Amino acid sequence: MLKENSLLGKRALVTGSTSGIGLAVARALGAAGAEVVLNGFGDEAEIAQLCDELGATHNGANLMEVGAIEAMMGDIGPVDILVNNAGMQHVSPVEDFPVEKWDAIIALNLSAVFHTTRLAVPHMKEKGWGRIINTASAHSKTASPFKSAYNASKHAVDGFTKTIALELAESGVTANCISPGYVWTPLIEGQIPDTMAARGLSREEVINDVLLAKQPTKKFVQPEEVGALAAFLCSEEMGNVTGANWSIDGGWTAE
Ligand code: NAD
Repeated sequence: MLKENSLLGKRALVTGSTSGIGLAVARALGAAGAEVVLNGFGDEAEIAQLCDELGATHNGANLMEVGAIEAMMGDIGPVDILVNNAGMQHVSPVEDFPVEKWDAIIALNLSAVFHTTRLAVPHMKEKGWGRIINTASAHSKTASPFKSAYNASKHAVDGFTKTIALELAESGVTANCISPGYVWTPLIEGQIPDTMAARGLSREEVINDVLLAKQPTKKFVQPEEVGALAAFLCSEEMGNVTGANWSIDGGWTAE
């Protein structure tokens, strides 16, 4: 874990941080002293409670809309740490994949990463310090059937991250991906019924024979473990780590 207060004075935007992995990342950065801006949807009272808990603010921009991203980045002001984490999934054979789901997944999982990054980078370069962390996925390195849009978007996020890491290499700004395997969050729970339908399996079979079968540890990754890795990448000692894609997947992509 990072030392207490080691991110004091740093401002962090974590997209998709009202739930799951993003919330755990926000908690980890906040615990290290960063001032955190939350983003994402959810119940207003619950979000207000999270803001209180973390001493954070919240911007509820819909990251599928370029104009909303531009307004958010203007409203929240410069950030030193950008965690592009918001993402969605849809499970369907390619021939039945709804076109609007394809467009939505590419907009949120990929294009939003480009838009927040292009708007955050000038301040980071000027300051000579920055951390860009993109939540990709084991599916940025390998594929599973029926997730064509998701896998395409996550592979592309890996390529985008490597590109900006090279562009920013001499500026003090690093860019890395974190690639979790299966983390038990609403995103995973939500895809179980469609996976049951697409593969003709029961709920138990999906959990054990599809999801956990991928992970040699046979354990779901915990959101807090991803949060700890994100905070670690923000430390000073990680200044020379850039363009990397960090697996946190119980050994899935080692096979
Ligand atoms: P989640 O569903 O728990 O959280 C998603 C977050 O994104 C929420 O805060 C939600 O409000 C927000 N969001 C959704 N649509 C949005 C939009 N249009 N604009 C702004 N915010 C929006 O999901 P999670 O499992 O925590 O996933 C977070 C990230 O981790 C995603 O990029 C996902 O692809 C990736 N990931 C998840 C897993 C997993 O097993 N859960 C594995 C690998 C990668």
